[in-house]
Amino acid sequence: MNMQRYQRQIIVPELSEDGQNILSRRHVVVIGGGGLGRNSSEILTRLGVGRIDIVDDDLVELSNLHRTSIFNEEDVGRFKCQILEEKLQKINSEITIKGVKQRVTKENVQSIIKNVDIILDGTDNMQTRFLINDVSIKNDIPWIYAGVYSTIGMVMGIIPKQTPCLKCISQSIPEKTGEIPVLGNLTSITASIQCTKAIKLLLGKQLSGLIIYDIWKQQFEQMKIQRNPTCGCCEKEIFEFL
Ligand SMILES: [Zn+2]
Repeated sequence: MNMQRYQRQIIVPELSEDGQNILSRRHVVVIGGGGLGRNSSEILTRLGVGRIDIVDDDLVELSNLHRTSIFNEEDVGRFKCQILEEKLQKINSEITIKGVKQRVTKENVQSIIKNVDIILDGTDNMQTRFLINDVSIKNDIPWIYAGVYSTIGMVMGIIPKQTPCLKCISQSIPEKTGEIPVLGNLTSITASIQCTKAIKLLLGKQLSGLIIYDIWKQQFEQMKIQRNPTCGCCEKEIFEFL
């Protein structure tokens, strides 16, 4: 690995050269190549995570371009995961990027998360998030929930059996239907918070609770949440979405 690329970040004591070496041996899967997923994939690529899989079966639409830097007008009509694989691999040829042209279902999720160290949520619906939550708890693989709505981003790291899971806090996250409003620049900061949690987790550091950031009001809140002792998922291990 050419450390020159990471020269400015390995002098950050929180990361260091040792941490950089650890990241280079880690495998992350990003589920969903939407606004959050593609921003997070790019951040992890530049940070130097060794292998990144991006799972998405959608095509790029013109309406995607306001909330990401990696797609341009020429990409409209092509598969997101293929473009991400091509472009991200050009950004960092020392790591492995794999675009997986699939929609995550209960039938394929086990193979998608095989051998990964952490799962990143790049989806836009609660159904898929509960599926990720179930497979995470069942297989003891941490995941980082992230969601955006209008001007508000929410992020929480979930370590099976240690922190609350998504089911424990599901009452705090209202399900939104229809077209989701998103201020374009909200996704990049929410993805950045998500990736910071991911690399902290990969380096074995402590995570804070649920983060809620309102980019319009410029308000940042950290909520400490307890596990729900009657949670059907992380306590009773009833995996209703799997
Ligand atoms: Zn739970």
